[in-house]
Amino acid sequence: MNILVINAGSSSLKYQLIDMTTESILAKGLCERIGINGSNIEQKAGGKLYKKTLPLKNHVEAFGALVDALTDAEYGAVPDLSSIGAAGHRVVHGAEAFTGSVLIDDTVMQALRDNIPLAPLHNPANIMGIEACRAVMPDVPMVAVFDTAFHQTMPRRAYLYGLPYEYYEQYKIRRYGFHGTSHRYVTARAAQLLGRPIEQLKLISCHMGNGSSFAAVEGGRSIDTTMGLTPLEGLIMGTRSGDIDPTVIEMLMTSTGMSLADVMSVLNKRSGLLGLSAGLSSDWRDVKIGAQTGNDAALRAAEVFAYRAKKYIGGYIAAMNGCDAILFTAGIGENDSFARALILKGMEYLGITLDPERNQTREEALISADESRVKVFVVPTNEELAIARDTLALTGTIYTRYHSPAIERSLV
Ligand code: AMP
Repeated sequence: MNILVINAGSSSLKYQLIDMTTESILAKGLCERIGINGSNIEQKAGGKLYKKTLPLKNHVEAFGALVDALTDAEYGAVPDLSSIGAAGHRVVHGAEAFTGSVLIDDTVMQALRDNIPLAPLHNPANIMGIEACRAVMPDVPMVAVFDTAFHQTMPRRAYLYGLPYEYYEQYKIRRYGFHGTSHRYVTARAAQLLGRPIEQLKLISCHMGNGSSFAAVEGGRSIDTTMGLTPLEGLIMGTRSGDIDPTVIEMLMTSTGMSLADVMSVLNKRSGLLGLSAGLSSDWRDVKIGAQTGNDAALRAAEVFAYRAKKYIGGYIAAMNGCDAILFTAGIGENDSFARALILKGMEYLGITLDPERNQTREEALISADESRVKVFVVPTNEELAIARDTLALTGTIYTRYHSPAIERSLV
């Protein structure tokens, strides 16, 4: 069965078509600048590149272009739509309504709309993606996979803010956490690598990319994570500040005359590595090269980034009263030995010792020293595959029902 995995943004639509018999990618593509001048689609399938600039006024048109690309006689991956068994959609915020992935129906769509106030930037785009998919492929069963769902197991001591409790009761203001699909995938893989049931393990998953979050996963359940009500909380990220004293917002508004929206934009788009490096770059590669070649602004950004990360790891070891393994994943976590070494330097007291040579890897590998009580791994994440697996698990029977030759014969 082939599964289409969709990640819809406000002006973009990323997709992969995955053959689940081999879990291999048949096609991978991106529609960009939807609703903006110069919209285009790019797809790679079977080693061939399909590229078109064409007007895509909305997500439905983008979906039409995606189907044309996937089924293109020369550059496509499948002959027609009947080769797509199901679609899995990434949805950012499932709030408290969703503790796992679900088959999409009208009730689910309404719950997604109800969650918009909690994720005004992300959920409307995800909903547009689902609606477009439903319009273009009405007969294909669909599944929603939530970034927040994995963290719904957090106990209240981890998810509540120190605010008047009524704000949680009335407005659901609490910590939700994100990147759950990645943390779930990486921790499940780590259990395989360790050769132990996940129920027995205490793991810290470090997803470090442009957006970064860590999760403390005990017995396969997330018990704490660094992101909160939104993905702004926690670690230093490419352009996001991570944790700050909320009074910073008031001070910035009074001392600079910026509006609340301006300050929120600074915290989301001009802070983190970009802000700390005085505008040098939000990209870790640039910060790293600067830090290694004597640029003090880059060094300071790298130091703050690594120090915040180290404190969270220490905190999670305390929260779980131990740790079997620390897992590094995503763009920085998978690729950068310098970042991993900077974060884990001086943690021998907690039983963590990296092996400098093993740490040079950019692939799945054990990178801790033999004497390290806590094992450290690089585990490449694969959120698309995780979404596809959930989609298969929830739709497999429907697909078999609709595509079983025996049933089709009996229907004729
Ligand atoms: P992601 O959001 O997972 O795509 O990760 C993006 C981040 O990963 C950026 O900060 C990149 O600088 C970083 N990154 C990607 N490739 C590398 C690499 N080869 N070495 C170091 N950092 C990398």
